[in-house]
Amino acid sequence: MTKEYDVELHQIRKCFGSTVVVDDFNLQVERGECVTFLGPSGCGKTTTLNMLAGFLEPDGGTLTIKGKPMNGVPSNKRDLGMVFQTYSLFPHMTVAENVAYGLKLRKIPKSEIAARVNKVLELVKLPHLADRYPKQLSGGQRQRIAIARALVTEPSVLLLDEPLSNLDAKLREELREEMKRLQQELKVTTIFVTHDQEEAMYMSDRIVVLDHGRVEQIGTPEEIYQRPASPFVHEFVGKSNRFQVKLAATDEHLWHFATKEGILLQADRHSRQELTGDAAVAYVRPEHIVIQEVVGDAPPPSMNTVFGIVRLVSFLGSIVEVIVECHGQLITVRTGIAPHLHLVENKFVQLSWDSQHVSAFPAKEA
Ligand code: ATP
Repeated sequence: MTKEYDVELHQIRKCFGSTVVVDDFNLQVERGECVTFLGPSGCGKTTTLNMLAGFLEPDGGTLTIKGKPMNGVPSNKRDLGMVFQTYSLFPHMTVAENVAYGLKLRKIPKSEIAARVNKVLELVKLPHLADRYPKQLSGGQRQRIAIARALVTEPSVLLLDEPLSNLDAKLREELREEMKRLQQELKVTTIFVTHDQEEAMYMSDRIVVLDHGRVEQIGTPEEIYQRPASPFVHEFVGKSNRFQVKLAATDEHLWHFATKEGILLQADRHSRQELTGDAAVAYVRPEHIVIQEVVGDAPPPSMNTVFGIVRLVSFLGSIVEVIVECHGQLITVRTGIAPHLHLVENKFVQLSWDSQHVSAFPAKEA
């Protein structure tokens, strides 16, 4: 038996004039899943969401919701809940009237409307604001009401387009926690659009990383972070140190690389792809680098070890970020607070890492 998905995109394509802005987009979203479209500005996130919403028609491919083909189906017949970046509440209606709006359109009996509005306002913890007008609410409250309005019709799919981006940092964190709780409690299939990688990691069961209208990788937050499929994903999600390298030798388990400045790196060959040619790009995450003070003269260079001078130390709360200059290259290290390490500028330090934490890609993809 073939599996049924709540949302399916099959070879979706969209052009504006002669520019292709979404190409060959394939995705299957399971019931109750929260899937995030993540990518830089202009990569096609909103365009794809707008095709799902029915605001734009694809130029190619098929789109289904709950197994029903949606190409050509008007937005109001798609059984969707939507929340956008701007609050989009009707200013002349009270909170309760705003939330009730979708139910009225569906001709739900008045008594039922009141009960459902009340229930959903309880869910977003704002039942006491039912009689206020949008202008009497804070930004966070307005966005909570917009979420309540989207959920009240119990839609098949919830579409969220950067719903938190107009809020300040603290409120963003609070509201994303709330949204995740609601999403998991109600098990509503959700497509979330953001350019904020931390938000994507926090909210999602799976993340779709997009670049220039193409899907670069689809995976769980952990897969995307731990095993990026391309240099683009490696650089877009999380911080990375990038080394332009030449392949010096290959053995059964390891690649041996060198930068032209003489940094020697070894990488486990567990990564999925083979290297073609000598030129490659290797990455090491800042938190995988061990930093130690060096007393006396530096020993000669060895594999996965470099020596350098501390250029910048930044205290980030639970961790310290240290920028070290090694052979003319700046390497970022993130380490826990270690009182025994006297990390100050101009200190001579050793950096080392394990070959399992080095990812390598053919240079042409970089
Ligand atoms: P952002 O994070 O900035 O919102 P995005 O990833 O959502 O970006 P889209 O809004 O989907 O990106 O835009 C994708 C590309 O399509 C961009 O290059 C954009 O300039 C272009 N584009 C979007 N809408 C139109 C339009 N109506 N006409 C022409 N080009 C458009």
